[in-house]
Amino acid sequence: MKNFDIEEVRKQFPVLDQKIYGRQLVYFDNAATTQKPLCVIERERDYYLNENCNIHRGVHYLSQMATEAYENARKTVATFVNARKSEEIVFTRGTTESLNLLATSLGQLLINKGDKVVVSAMEHHSNMVPWQQMLIREGGELLVIKMDENGVLDLNHYAELLKQRPKVVSIAHISNTLATVNPVKEMIRMAHEYDIPVIIDGAQSMAHQVIDVQDLDCDFYVFSGHKMYAPMGIGGLYGKMEWLEKMPPYQFGGEMVDKVSFEKTTFNKVPFKFEAGTPNVGAALGLETAVKFIQSLDRQEVERHEDMLLNYATEQLAKIDGIRFIGRAPRRNGLVSFLVDGIHPYDLGTIIDKMGVAVRTGHHCAEPVMTFFGIPGTVRASFAMYNTKEEIDIFIKAVEKATLMLR
Ligand code: PMP
Repeated sequence: MKNFDIEEVRKQFPVLDQKIYGRQLVYFDNAATTQKPLCVIERERDYYLNENCNIHRGVHYLSQMATEAYENARKTVATFVNARKSEEIVFTRGTTESLNLLATSLGQLLINKGDKVVVSAMEHHSNMVPWQQMLIREGGELLVIKMDENGVLDLNHYAELLKQRPKVVSIAHISNTLATVNPVKEMIRMAHEYDIPVIIDGAQSMAHQVIDVQDLDCDFYVFSGHKMYAPMGIGGLYGKMEWLEKMPPYQFGGEMVDKVSFEKTTFNKVPFKFEAGTPNVGAALGLETAVKFIQSLDRQEVERHEDMLLNYATEQLAKIDGIRFIGRAPRRNGLVSFLVDGIHPYDLGTIIDKMGVAVRTGHHCAEPVMTFFGIPGTVRASFAMYNTKEEIDIFIKAVEKATLMLR
């Protein structure tokens, strides 16, 4: 039977067991990257110790084994997100590369002069700049769904934007600055009424929520391994087969081709058409192990624990004089962003770091969000399954102390 034993889980993450400036580390920067469990580290190490080989090319034993392992990793990820087929998973370096792939490839397929793409006011730069730049190239226009002061998207405005018949909608599942969980299933349904494909940026959701791409009915879902206990340098893109088949390649080179001559090149089938060059095989195997690690736990219990952490942290922070939460949507997940009156977020972050507490400060790669709220940045504490209530107590004491020092 699956369970969730936090002590056992923490033993899987030896990096947590260290002192920073003489204080026990409290790691609350999980939205930037999660720590990696031993099983993931060992899987990657084992690959380089015993299995390292280039894939899809060699007839020899090691190459065939590595190819099989890599393709099995694809199957594991496909099952994890409930894709119809493993070929609907394209491995990339992560969310950023997946979104650049989509902006380039869908841009070529769908966007002509005067065409529109919809994003939201709370997007990470990765889900905005690639579209913006593609639209500058093609002579199109970026439409932005408005949000309110709580960090909730205005669905009436979204409905109005859809009437302008944009060619693509691309939105975050969970905001990395505001923690808002967007009603993506409903937003996908609304776009599909106009046959508009929808991309979901799942960078902040894969580690926290069960993702079912068939239930969501999204056309694409993108994610980063390193935010879900897997190594850096690997991530992916789920895409409905009918789209992936129509889309042109994004990069050219080895592996993505079928027949090549100086006159003409034909391309390999999906997903290889989108995987030019040597992939990060070791990291893909690490990603598979991370997925199996998550699957081995009682996910409802993990979600309950993470919700408890977020609620407790928010309650305790609310007691601090002069606190201002940035992001107060009714449905939030994974993180809390805040400011304390009269204190620069950078100063607060720097001081609590000296007390062993690692948080993120700044604009979190979402400058338009900061502009909207008229602030230089926020302090962001983001949680993972291995965090504890006791760590939140330490964090709160550190914030209180820093506040007294800086006032
Ligand atoms: N989108 C969101 C919502 C994110 O939080 C991040 C990472 N902070 C990204 C995209 C980019 O992810 P990566 O840097 O792993 O490509």
